[in-house]
Amino acid sequence: MSILEKHIAEPKIAYFSMEIGLRDEIPTYSGGLGVLAGDTVKSAADLELPFIAVTLISRKGYFRQEIDNEGRQKELPAVWEPSELMTLMPEKVAVTIEGRTVHIRAWVYFVESPRGGIVPVIYLDTDAPENSPEDRTLTDRLYGGDESYRIKQELILGIGGVRMLGKLGFRIKKYHMNEGHAAFLTLELLHKFKKDIEAVWDEEHIWDVEAVKHLCVFTTHTPVEAGHDKFTYELFKKVFGDYFPENILKKLAGEKNVNMTLLGFNLSNHVNGVAKKHGEVSQSMFPGYQINAITNGVHSFTWTSKGMKKIFDKYLPGWANEPEIFVRIGVIPDEELWNAHMEAKRNLIDYVNSVSDADMDYETLTIGFARRATAYKRADLLFSDLKRLEKIGTAKIQVIYAGKAHPKDMVGKQLIEKIFSYKQKLKGKIRIAFIQNYNMEIALKLVSGVDIWLNTPLRPLEASGTSGMKAAHNGVMNFSVLDGWWIEGHIEGYTGWAIGPAPKKIEPDINMNKIDADDLYNKLETKIIPLYYNDRKTWIRMMQNAIGKNAYYFNSHRMMRRYVTETYIR
Ligand SMILES: *Cc1c(COP(=O)(O)O)cnc(C)c1O
Repeated sequence: MSILEKHIAEPKIAYFSMEIGLRDEIPTYSGGLGVLAGDTVKSAADLELPFIAVTLISRKGYFRQEIDNEGRQKELPAVWEPSELMTLMPEKVAVTIEGRTVHIRAWVYFVESPRGGIVPVIYLDTDAPENSPEDRTLTDRLYGGDESYRIKQELILGIGGVRMLGKLGFRIKKYHMNEGHAAFLTLELLHKFKKDIEAVWDEEHIWDVEAVKHLCVFTTHTPVEAGHDKFTYELFKKVFGDYFPENILKKLAGEKNVNMTLLGFNLSNHVNGVAKKHGEVSQSMFPGYQINAITNGVHSFTWTSKGMKKIFDKYLPGWANEPEIFVRIGVIPDEELWNAHMEAKRNLIDYVNSVSDADMDYETLTIGFARRATAYKRADLLFSDLKRLEKIGTAKIQVIYAGKAHPKDMVGKQLIEKIFSYKQKLKGKIRIAFIQNYNMEIALKLVSGVDIWLNTPLRPLEASGTSGMKAAHNGVMNFSVLDGWWIEGHIEGYTGWAIGPAPKKIEPDINMNKIDADDLYNKLETKIIPLYYNDRKTWIRMMQNAIGKNAYYFNSHRMMRRYVTETYIR
């Protein structure tokens, strides 16, 4: 009997994502998109939804980051052994790539909730002995290689994924494409629902677009242009052969390029962005489509420190599966909340001191900044005016950084080098540490152990941002540019602080770096530092608000309930 036997009885929602971050031992994620996918699966299991996820095995992971003394990033393969964590299924499917038959195998990993829900995650793998050496490497590296490598991976995910689900015996009632990487699944579905050729007179009408639309929903994740995959028709033809007629594809995916976002949009009944503002921004990028918004959330149990879990269990039983219970955060005595925070802070500072020469202490106001190192996130904004930072922060703040740059993102890599040079320049005045190889474990240490979570994206490029929601779950206030989720979560001086003007007040062409940096320094000096050192009671009130207002709402249980009612069962 197959280990999937009891899972195939009921029709499922199939969630397709190029990356899924469930735990660090399965390093098949690069950042926010993957961690969100992992949190999605965990909440689906907790809520006992009929859910299955499909992704690639990424045997060499994204990469392991090493940084030398000058801040230069080195990328090493994050090799891991699937057989230690998951089960290889006997079923295989085949796809055609550049005219060759490529065999795909599937590993199954079960995400089991303490509440009894189980979600199988299917990891597609081409490293099968019957494939050519080159094809065996197609599911090795997440976001690695060139355009051709990428389109082949997306073929495997979309077409291979649909075929594998069928082969394993699943019936699917909804396909959820998490970003455009998975959008080729729509072409496979069009093939599946092809009308009887005898009954239609026009070749175009054999493709039942309405039937496929009815089965699909699509989530777009970024307003950054490079985040929307586009392939030339020449490359498509080379890789896919005559799998799908070009004249029809051009109507669905764009005349100029195979635009994966458009393909997803045109074949989905529901399309959404990942925060209210991002919904609006996407709407203006893609006029003519109805784009809704379901604001992201994080998995509460995963993203809460040990000490916080303990007091939540004591005072707010049931919180992990019903984060709405955070509304009663005020029942936790101030001292216990503070002690739980300090436990996480000591844990972080000890870790930082063990891996760096930063020599940080437990008492200093500690600021955290960790996310992908890429231009629009402006990791260097804090250092815009070193003299001013020195004056405000000497002996008053310490700052911890982390983040990977995509191997081809030269600007992102330079940002890391810059932080290293600022660290050097501020030596003896402001302690700064850069922790290498940012991953989920380090993320939890950071978001729970700092006092303030800093975020400085260039508007409106932060679609949602989720690390700030993790911070809020640990009573850590956000100090952030009003973009993404923070527009919805921010109440000034109550849940945290804004950096720079409200999104409405921005004139085009003004120098946002200067304006934002100015406000950052100003608030740090006149609001945040004095409050931290002189008014601990109000500080703890704000910690309560971060949990009672932000974590209460920005969790993936609420998010999944909305996906169910607004997209899956419509
Ligand atoms: C949460 C998380 C992210 C996403 O952080 P953003 O603030 O959305 O950029 C990236 N990487 C890791 C390891 C995370 O845990």
